[in-house]
Amino acid sequence: MTFESLGLSKKVLKAVEASGYTIPTPIQEQAIPHVLQHRDVLGIAQTGTGKTAGFVLPMLSLLEKGRARARMPRTLILEPTRELAAQVHENFVKYGQNHKLSVALLIGGVSFDEQNKILDRGADVLIATPGRLLDHFERGRLLMTGVEILVIDEADRMLDMGFIPDIERIVKLLPFTRQTLFFSATMPPEIDDLAKRFLQNPVSVEVAKPASASKTITQRAVSAPVEDWEKRAVLRSLIDEAKELQNAIIFCNRKVDVANLWKSLDRHGYSAGALHGDMDQTSRTATLKAFKDGKIKILVASDVAARGLDIPEVSHVFNFDVSVNAEDYVHRIGRTGRAGRAGAAFMIVTPADQKGFEAIEELIGETIEWQGEKVEWDARAGRRGRGRGKSSRPERAERPEKSARGEKKGESRDRSDRSGERSSDTRPGRDRPARESGRADRGETRQGRGPERGGKRQDDRQKDLVASDRDHAFGGEEHIPAFLR
Ligand code: AMP
Repeated sequence: MTFESLGLSKKVLKAVEASGYTIPTPIQEQAIPHVLQHRDVLGIAQTGTGKTAGFVLPMLSLLEKGRARARMPRTLILEPTRELAAQVHENFVKYGQNHKLSVALLIGGVSFDEQNKILDRGADVLIATPGRLLDHFERGRLLMTGVEILVIDEADRMLDMGFIPDIERIVKLLPFTRQTLFFSATMPPEIDDLAKRFLQNPVSVEVAKPASASKTITQRAVSAPVEDWEKRAVLRSLIDEAKELQNAIIFCNRKVDVANLWKSLDRHGYSAGALHGDMDQTSRTATLKAFKDGKIKILVASDVAARGLDIPEVSHVFNFDVSVNAEDYVHRIGRTGRAGRAGAAFMIVTPADQKGFEAIEELIGETIEWQGEKVEWDARAGRRGRGRGKSSRPERAERPEKSARGEKKGESRDRSDRSGERSSDTRPGRDRPARESGRADRGETRQGRGPERGGKRQDDRQKDLVASDRDHAFGGEEHIPAFLR
């Protein structure tokens, strides 16, 4: 199958050729011809399958006919996070290089003025997070009665993030006769119900079972004690010993752990950055760019912040925590082994993680191989050992916020600032050092190990105290250990 045979326009084919892609991915092969025939499409596909181009390419072809009118966008793409919206925007820039289309990106953290200018001129494509879109609508900056194509992307994530009421409102503002493309990685009943209501006689395309992991990913479980500082030591040795590690994403369940782990890695000299929902948009974008450009090699991230990020060629994924939801595990490891490339995914598993670990194995229908000794399950381990009382089910696991809009401090004017994550107490420097210090001491006495790395044990432990007050910073060259340079 070639791109030519899908019915795309010449301009689009030229841009695809320039991007170096020669064979459509299965979702592209299945979805593109239907989109071009103005059919509604229900796509069950994860990120990493090429689904973005699956709707961007045919939309570009369809948009060649007609032109935009002021404040009346012709197409609307809804994304759950700013990062995903920005990625779709990048796709339009890349594949739309031979078109003179106007594309507006309406996301929180970006000034209204710039966005208004584009809307006033007339946007062919509007890519938005639901909150910011409704803000613009309520300010009278836009009319949605001219929308010919609606794309709802990552619908299950929208559900997780509490965006469904906003989406229902938005859909009511659109013409009934529109074409709708609806994508979701999974199909929980709420999403199924939504799809039935929003789509008319849709063509269903499904590329991989929602719960399946790519066959090109080598998955390994690694046993570790429950304490965070001990897990960090295990993680460091995994990173140090990883084969052909080019770059890595490390997932934590909670934002506070993202911040702490990043600081710890930074202090240990690793080239690392952090991505979580409490960071402002500028820092998030800068971190992501630095990671994409290879300026930082390790990205510590939360699930919500990292969902669907288009970061090609991530060689390794490390699960610092066993994910609370088994499905998140599939999404996490899907950051590697993309588009047929080889990837490695490691999961640090403590005695307290039995439930979560077994749920993952059940979901993926595979037994995950242990690297080293298998962990000895002990359901009480988490409660006994951890100062914060964290067990296999983190008390304050980073789950998307299902709040009503505009209730969080400082958010009343920009609802799309809801990153979907709790604004929990991510103040790593405040009261953690004492507890961390206590753990480190306990661990050393208990295990009675000698100094590591040329007698620097004490030094190492202090690095773990994570009391850094530095601003968000990327490790410069001097922070990059030789194996990562
Ligand atoms: P997506 O699922 O849209 O996030 O895309 C995943 C990755 O696959 C992105 O890095 C795309 O640039 C890439 N990609 C999209 N289409 C193709 C294709 N036909 N061949 C190879 N890579 C592709």
